Amino acid sequence: MAEYNKPIPVPSIESKPYWEGLRQHRLLIPRCNACAGFWFPPSARCPNCSSSDFSWTAASGRGRVFSFVIYHRVYHPGFAGEVPYTVGLVELEEGPRMISNIVGIPPEQVVCDMPVRVVFEDIGDIATLPKFTPVPA
Ligand code: ZN
Repeated sequence: MAEYNKPIPVPSIESKPYWEGLRQHRLLIPRCNACAGFWFPPSARCPNCSSSDFSWTAASGRGRVFSFVIYHRVYHPGFAGEVPYTVGLVELEEGPRMISNIVGIPPEQVVCDMPVRVVFEDIGDIATLPKFTPVPA
């Protein structure tokens, strides 16, 4: 693998199944078995009803750009060759919101409420990152 000089995710106990799912190109998020709500980021208890009874559930991977910013400044040297790039807050179809890159579209063309779908970026054998790309409305 070519040198990868961006930050590498470090899974926590709560997020380990999420990161393992990404390696298989599945977007797994917790779904409460008591109130049926989804949430993200992963945590040991449902933020809605505090139940610890939940299942890792495959999300559709579809969502919308809730908000976004365009990074013009290099905050980490690993991104020096990529500015400007888009960091979006994506609202998944299931409800939770995730921060990730909006890819496959020039930053100046990203708009709020744009439909997107997840794409998976493998970092060699190390990890897989979920990113989002536009889909036709
Ligand atoms: Zn719940």
